[in-house]
Amino acid sequence: MADTSRLRKPVIAGNWKMYKTQREARDFFAEFQPLVAAATHCEIVVAPTFTALAASVEAAKGSAIGIAAQDVYWASEGAFTGEVSPRMLVEAGCRAVIIGHSERRQFFGETDESANRKVKAAVAAGLTPILCVGELLAEREAGDTQSVLERQFRGSLAALTTAEFSRIIMAYEPVWAIGTGRTATPEIAAEAHKFLRDLAARSFSAKDAASLRILYGGSVKPENIKGLMAQAEIDGALVGGASLDARQFAAIVNY
Ligand code: PEP
Repeated sequence: MADTSRLRKPVIAGNWKMYKTQREARDFFAEFQPLVAAATHCEIVVAPTFTALAASVEAAKGSAIGIAAQDVYWASEGAFTGEVSPRMLVEAGCRAVIIGHSERRQFFGETDESANRKVKAAVAAGLTPILCVGELLAEREAGDTQSVLERQFRGSLAALTTAEFSRIIMAYEPVWAIGTGRTATPEIAAEAHKFLRDLAARSFSAKDAASLRILYGGSVKPENIKGLMAQAEIDGALVGGASLDARQFAAIVNY
C-alpha cells in the first residue's frame, strides 16, 4: 500500500552475493515480477553477480525493477585483470552499484579510500552508488559505533561535491547483523540512520541530508520489515539471504 506520508521514496534492494547462475536468475524474475507488479510505493533493485547481469536486465525488461552490480572498479578501462568498469556496467543495463559492502571490506581489501574512488567513478558514469557502512560487533560493544560510522562516511565520501552526494544511496549495515539472523532493533537502526543523516547535514547541506535515502541491512526478513519501515529514519532495506527467494523478497517489497 502506498505510504504518502514519507518524505523519501523507499528503496528495497536485494544483494544476491555469489549466488544464482543466469538460468536461476531468469527463473527468479519469472516468479518475482508478477508478485511485485503492483508495487509503486518503493523502488525495487536487484544486484546479481556480474555473469547474471545481462540475463537479469533482459528478464526485468519492461518492469520497474532496477538492476545493480555488487562492485565496480574506478578506471574506465585498462590493464586491471578481473575488474569491471562503470561504463561497462552502464552498457550492461545497470542503474546502480553496491560499493563498500562489508564482505568486500572483510575479504577483498576494500577500504574507505577505494570505496571513495568507486563512488566518484560510479556517479560520473551515471550509476547510483549504494554505499555501505556499518560497525563490527566489537566496535559496537566498545562504544565506537558512531566514530566508526563517521570515519567510514567521511572517508568514503571525501571530496564529493553536493551534486555528487545528491546521487548516492547509503546503506547502514551493522556487520554483526549480516547473515547472522540477528537484526538490529528498529530503534538501534534508526539511531544510526539519524547519526548518518546529521553527518550528511554537517558535511553537505540540510536539503541533501533530508533527501538522502538510508537503507537498513542485516537479516531483513518478511517478519521484521514492517517494524523497520515504521521508523521514519529508515528509507528501505538492503536484503541479502532473503532476496534469493522470490516469494520472500516479494513479501519484503510488499511490506
Ligand atoms: C547483505 O548482504 O547486505 C545483507 C544484509 O545480508 P543478510 O540480509 O543476509 O543479512
